[in-house]
Amino acid sequence: MTRVAALIFDVDGTLAETEEAHRYAFNRAFSETGLSWTWNQAIYRHLLKVSGGKERILAFAPDASPELVAALHGRKNQIYTKLVASGQVSFRPGVESLISSARAQGLKLAIATTAARVNVEALLGARKAFFHTIACAEDVRKKKPDPEVYALVLKRLDLPADKCLVLEDSSNGLAAATSIGLKVVITPSLYTRGQNFDGALAVLPDLGGVSLARLIDLKG
Ligand SMILES: [Mg+2]
Repeated sequence: MTRVAALIFDVDGTLAETEEAHRYAFNRAFSETGLSWTWNQAIYRHLLKVSGGKERILAFAPDASPELVAALHGRKNQIYTKLVASGQVSFRPGVESLISSARAQGLKLAIATTAARVNVEALLGARKAFFHTIACAEDVRKKKPDPEVYALVLKRLDLPADKCLVLEDSSNGLAAATSIGLKVVITPSLYTRGQNFDGALAVLPDLGGVSLARLIDLKG
């Protein structure tokens, strides 16, 4: 049996550079609602320290009513999924090839994200069928850096942490996975470069040209 039986992927920033699409969708939802809020890259970088779209809106506007937050978040997700479904957000280098290799070698694939399921499924499209389990925001009470989503994925995979390898782009994701004994390879994304990745197996610019065998070797 291989030393690694499953790959577990984060979504935003790891599978694809989705955050600019999310930021665009938030801004469109705000302007459609008649709000003058605009999230530039500097503001969004700050807000990304908070996991979850609704939580981000509240971090920016603590006095917003739950109804307004829910309406903005719902509209934002509609705009985002339309954007993604139209093929305007592509996977990061090496991700598709790694997924193919893992499938060819009989590894299980899983998703552990605190993004909403509708957004994840829009990005995955037909690739959804490749994944044994897809754990999303709706499946957990606590978002990353809490390990709940990773613990759920391990349970659904029916595998111990040491048989899995995690791909993440952020320090929140790294903390979530490592706190329950998972090993993590980091590919920093637009908004996570410069974060503290102490405890990662490796920090790679992206997965372009990185073979499955090399990742498995990294895990040791
Ligand atoms: Mg991420």
